[in-house]
Amino acid sequence: MDLIDKLTILTDSAKYDVACTSSGSERKSAPGSVGSTVSMGICHSFAADGRCISLLKVLMTNNCIYDCKYCVNRKSNDTRRAAFTPRELAELTMHFYRRNYIEGLFLSSGILRNPDYTMERMIQALELLRDEYKFGGYIHVKAIPGADDALITRLGHLADRMSVNIELPSQESLTLLAPDKTKESILRPMGLMREKIRETSTELAVSRHAPKFAPAGQSTQLIIGATPDTDFRILKLTEGLYQKYKLKRVFYSAYTPVMEHSLLPAKDSKPPLLREHRLYQADWLLRFYGFQAQELLDENHQNFDPLLDPKCNWALHHMELFPVEVNRAPYEMLLRVPGIGVRSAQRILKARKTGSLDFTGLKKLGVVLKRAQYFITCRDKGLEGLRISQHSLLRALISETGIKRLEDQPEQLSFFDESLVTREDAVKCLTGQI
Ligand code: SF4
Repeated sequence: MDLIDKLTILTDSAKYDVACTSSGSERKSAPGSVGSTVSMGICHSFAADGRCISLLKVLMTNNCIYDCKYCVNRKSNDTRRAAFTPRELAELTMHFYRRNYIEGLFLSSGILRNPDYTMERMIQALELLRDEYKFGGYIHVKAIPGADDALITRLGHLADRMSVNIELPSQESLTLLAPDKTKESILRPMGLMREKIRETSTELAVSRHAPKFAPAGQSTQLIIGATPDTDFRILKLTEGLYQKYKLKRVFYSAYTPVMEHSLLPAKDSKPPLLREHRLYQADWLLRFYGFQAQELLDENHQNFDPLLDPKCNWALHHMELFPVEVNRAPYEMLLRVPGIGVRSAQRILKARKTGSLDFTGLKKLGVVLKRAQYFITCRDKGLEGLRISQHSLLRALISETGIKRLEDQPEQLSFFDESLVTREDAVKCLTGQI
């Protein structure tokens, strides 16, 4: 099989993995080497379905001894198989880099023979890139669950970011759909990576020449919609991962049906992209807005309302806390007002030091008054002429999102359908200012 065929097969097989942002690592090109990384992301671009395609995103091999039911590369799937040699992969990366097609590599793999053998091949490829070709660009690599600790450590010294995909949010789902994997085999390398990252940051504080271990941290991916796991369960797991394993990011991937199986959604069903979007919004609220998972959902409300973003939904259920007087409210409370994002809350605090704010001033600071107006007062007065009951508030917020009533939408809503998502919603998604 020639290299182009291998490349076609192995890039196609990698497309379902969404955990591939390239931000978070800063390194200048050293004399005699090529490539550098910048913390703001080196080569982000997004496919029509919103997935990041910034790096050469490829598998070492799509041969796999495991049989995860949701995966195109599972051993029982009748598909064309290919494998790069470590040198082929290293040379290909360098060719692409020199042509300016890419600025980094995202490398994952099916499990060839066993986890250790697979990791050895990935390490060889990265050693060639780093040591022989002096490649200093960004590398995100997947650790293989079940591999030896020493191999994971070696890999972490070659990569900028590492990840182990959890894929399914519960042990029951793993047992059902990925019987070869266990929660333990996934969480163990995560724990090891957390320790190595912690150790190296301590060593780096003593000497800047200390070897770095995954300086851009670790991340993981969860598949959404392949199993009946609720948003609450997924969000609780996410929260635990951020707290316990210090992950940089949890990525959510709306399940794309790739096969007929009684345990999986029908093959003609659409990926739940709107649900994925709501989880990303909630994830943002956990990381930057001071929310906890159990504030956003609970045992009685296990899934997000598709019609409202999670912050609006929370505010509607806590109207006793509103309206908030923007000239006095603490930062933490400002962050909870729909329409006030992190940046605008910081600007409000700064502007308040020099004078009292009114609605016109708030607009200039970036507050989205269309949403915030229902939840704030300025100088103890609401927006002039605003009369709204709780019931009409819900309608106003829903119509502001541009999303139609669910009954009018028999199909899964597409986040990228212009008629369903306003420009503002798309901006919220990109900036995280919710
Ligand atoms: S181990 Fe990975 S590549 Fe192999 S079948 Fe499971 S998800 Fe697919």
